[in-house]
Amino acid sequence: MLFSEPLHVGKPNVGDRQQFDLLVDRIFETRWLSNSGPLVVELEERIADYLGVRHCVSMCNGTVALEIAIRALGLTGEVIVPSYTFVATAHALHWQGLTPVFADIDPETHNLSLDSVRSLITPKTSGIIGVHLWGRPAPVAGLEEIATEHNLELMFDAAHAFGNMDSGRMIGSSGRAEVFSFHATKFFNTFEGGAVVTNDDALAERIRLMRNFGFVDFDEVVYPGTNGKLPEVSAAMGLVNLASIDAFIANNRANYEAYREAFADDDSLELLSFADEPRGNYQYVVVELAGEAVQHRDRLVAELHAENIRARKYFWPGCHQMEPYKGLYPNAGENLPNTAVVADRVVVLPTGSSVDPADCAVVAGFIRERLASYALDQVADASV
Ligand SMILES: *Cc1c(COP(=O)(O)O)cnc(C)c1O
Repeated sequence: MLFSEPLHVGKPNVGDRQQFDLLVDRIFETRWLSNSGPLVVELEERIADYLGVRHCVSMCNGTVALEIAIRALGLTGEVIVPSYTFVATAHALHWQGLTPVFADIDPETHNLSLDSVRSLITPKTSGIIGVHLWGRPAPVAGLEEIATEHNLELMFDAAHAFGNMDSGRMIGSSGRAEVFSFHATKFFNTFEGGAVVTNDDALAERIRLMRNFGFVDFDEVVYPGTNGKLPEVSAAMGLVNLASIDAFIANNRANYEAYREAFADDDSLELLSFADEPRGNYQYVVVELAGEAVQHRDRLVAELHAENIRARKYFWPGCHQMEPYKGLYPNAGENLPNTAVVADRVVVLPTGSSVDPADCAVVAGFIRERLASYALDQVADASV
């Protein structure tokens, strides 16, 4: 086995433990454990500042943040989403009694195809949820144009994109609202957590209300809200991790560069590139197998696992192939040719705090060696 300890795709990035302990001491001294305590307020201000957005409403996780944003925007009927995303994007709609309509992706960017989105609009469509997949910006301008033309709401699932930029601007200001996940395995974490960010004052107010049962005062409830609150201890983690964010980025970037160098002259796969923005989280190292190598993807992943390299087949096989969507919309795949092709080719490689550039070189070397050996087997088979 190449590694005695498993190498993960999303081992948590954690900041300074002493700073965290100091904040936890403060929580115990004040006994303010939840309900918009001082650490939550501070974290929300810092994140809004970091992203250059007017409001950050923190949440207990990204999925509830999506549900609340969906509800606050008043979405109804059908909402267009990519199938090639983490299943929570679709589940959030389903839990709100809405129909996710799965659109295809552009095979180059892995983000929504504008033509596919256009082709799926019906009189029941109320909105579009774009996903900044792998942290690379969704086609925001094109989606805005479609939304305006058809009078649709537009929001974004930015769960992969914390700390990333789009055309020189931090991701977080597009559409009516954007949603982040601060789950433990995400680039920036609060153990569990998330946020809705928006520049819309009234929308932010409605979302805050929904997050806290609809309470406007001690005994006055004006809305059937839910409980989406982030606890203080999570905010403490967020503050500490935010202070280390540049170090997390530097670590991921060095890993990414090590993979890039090791794969540079290999044409059996392509390492997905990121735009040259001033800032980016490099959270996902995504390789797309090419040519003959594609048919060996699952074998490669199994062999990586056998070496304690926990590579992943994200987001195979696409949400439309998962229940309840597979049963509810058995023909959805007809609209999703690129999703099927991409989902069969992708392997996501370990990075983050459990991995350093020397590990990445070993992982890449192993992958190259395996792909070359599959190719040789094939040549041998063909000559029999
Ligand atoms: C992680 C993730 C979510 C869900 O966030 P949680 O905080 O785990 O609830 C939603 N959408 C995408 C694209 C994700 O990757």
